[in-house]
Parts: sequence; C-alpha cells; structure tokens
Amino acid sequence: MKVLITGGAGFLGSHLTDALLAQGDEVTILDVASDLKVLHNIGNPRFRLVRDSVLNREILESLIAWCDYIYHLAAVVGVEHYVGDPNQVLNINVNGTQTVLNVAFKLQKKVIFSSTSEVYGRNLDVPFTEDSDRVMGSTRIDRWCYATSKAVGEHFCFAFHKLGLPVVLLRYFNAYGPRLDQMDVGRVITIFLGQLMRGAPVTVIGNGRQTRCFTYVEDVIRATMAAGVIDEAVGRVINVGSNEEVTVSELAELMIRLSGSTSTIKFVTEESVYGPSYEDIPRRVPDVRLMEEILHVTAKVSLKDGLKQTLGWFRNNQ
Ligand code: UDP
Repeated sequence: MKVLITGGAGFLGSHLTDALLAQGDEVTILDVASDLKVLHNIGNPRFRLVRDSVLNREILESLIAWCDYIYHLAAVVGVEHYVGDPNQVLNINVNGTQTVLNVAFKLQKKVIFSSTSEVYGRNLDVPFTEDSDRVMGSTRIDRWCYATSKAVGEHFCFAFHKLGLPVVLLRYFNAYGPRLDQMDVGRVITIFLGQLMRGAPVTVIGNGRQTRCFTYVEDVIRATMAAGVIDEAVGRVINVGSNEEVTVSELAELMIRLSGSTSTIKFVTEESVYGPSYEDIPRRVPDVRLMEEILHVTAKVSLKDGLKQTLGWFRNNQ
C-alpha cells in the first residue's frame, strides 16, 4: 500500500513509518519539523520525506492523489505549546485538519485522524468511553486550546464522514517510548528523564495524585496500524490506551527506582511551571473495549517494562 503520514517525522509518525516500511508499504511523510525522527529511513527506496506544511493545499493534492490512505498526525502537541503559543496550536490543528479532509474528500481517500484523550478534559467520571462528556475549563485558560482544536478536528471528521468520506478517529492516551521528545522538555516522562540523568530533583506538579494511563508506543502503533485496514473501524472514534492507571507521584518514584538516580521528588506548583494559563487534569483512564473489539488490540507492555525500554533508549541516544 501507499501511505501518506502528515506529521510523520514526529514521535508517533516515526514509529508508524518504521512499522509500515517493515511490512513492505511505501511511505511518504509530510512534515515541517526541524527535529526529524525518520532520518534513519533516508535511502530506503520505499520512503519519501516532503518538507512542507499541511496548510499547503497544492502539495497535499499531489501527495493525496499518490496515496491509498492517509494518517493525519500533523499537529502542535505539548503543554508548553498550549500555554506558550495557542495561536499556532489552533491554526495547525484546526486549519491543517480541515485542509487535509477537504483534499481527501475531493480525492476520496480514507483518513485516520489522530485525536487525543485530552478531549475528555477534566471529566471525573472514569473510565472514559468514547461517548463520555467533554469537560473543559474556560477559554481564558490556554491549556484547553489543544483539546478544543482536536475536538473541532473530530467534528470535521464526522461531518465529512456524513458526506461519504471514510474516516477513523483515534484518541491516544499518553503515548510514550523512544524518541518521545528531547529530554527536559515536552511530556512528563521526558522532563523527568532529563532531571534523573542530571541527578536534579524530579518536579511533580501539584500534589502528585493526578493520574494517567501511559501507553507504550509499540501498543499504540499496533492499534494505529489496525485502524488503517479494518473496515469496521470506519466512521468510529476509538480510545487507544492502556488501563494501567498511575499517579504522577508513583510515576516519579518508579522512574527514580528504574534509573538508579540519586534524584528526589520536589513538589512544585502548577503556576511555577506553566504560568496562570494552566490547569491540570485530575484523572485520565480509557475504556478500552472498542480498541479490543474493533481493532483486536490490547495494550500489553507494562509501565515498568515500557519505562525500562525508554530509559535505555534515551541513555544510548541523547
Ligand atoms: N507533570 C509533572 N511535572 C512536570 C511535567 C508534568 O508533574 O514537570 C504532570 C502534569 O501536571 C500532568 C502529568 O504530569 O499531571 C502529565 O503531563 P504531560 O504534560 O506529560 O501530559 P498531559 O497528560 O497533561 O497532557
């Protein structure tokens, strides 16, 4: 198959690229990122990298005409961006998605859209089924711009599906693994990793009782690949996650133990890290029945094993 991955040079896209190439597919990536996580594939005759934006409709027309189906992963992700540059988050995530869907509709190519568990916001009623409510804070809190942008993307997907476009929507729950972000930035795991490597205190925000279900990239990619080829997934939104719920304090303790670092935990306020435009999400747990029933995928890698792999990779590669 010929597969186009927008945002394919990022964390998930790079792992998806490797997996698709390994099974013999042809992969084209459209990405503007400066940190390209796919350089190891350059030279593979079935791989092509196009450095351009999802807002460039002309480029999209030619790439979408070429491919059999599209993974639309291009997005601005990471809490520091939600509070630092909400305009960029909204522009790429909303207008980029609309452009991809418009062209895909014109050319009648299936789109697998990467959404997020963030769309459930601070709903306390876990586990979240795909029909659970979205509970967001005020628009004065920039943190919610990402959840809102992805929810708009989901609405666009369903609207195009109503018009006849095949779409699949995946809501990822805190995916992690090798190549996640640079150490010290991005998501909590890479921030903690940087601190652990330097022996600096691990900064747990708030009281550390907020929870997440961190999902190892290998499991995420199995679900993502299945979503591309299983007909029953079309027109559906599906949670992709582990149901191993941990508090952020537990995550910090586990990472300290696994790394053998001398770091201790330091509790810090939300405001001191992300400023006044941040609000945390107290619990985030997926209901994984649809992932199991439709995609036939169960998250298998425990947090402990996934963190060991991740730690090992960052030690050798950063
Ligand atoms: N977090 C933390 N210390 C940090 C960065 C993040 O305790 O230095 C917490 C954050 O407040 C949240 C969790 O870790 O409760 C996950 O944060 P992340 O930014 O990775 O993703 P989120 O799940 O919030 O989108």
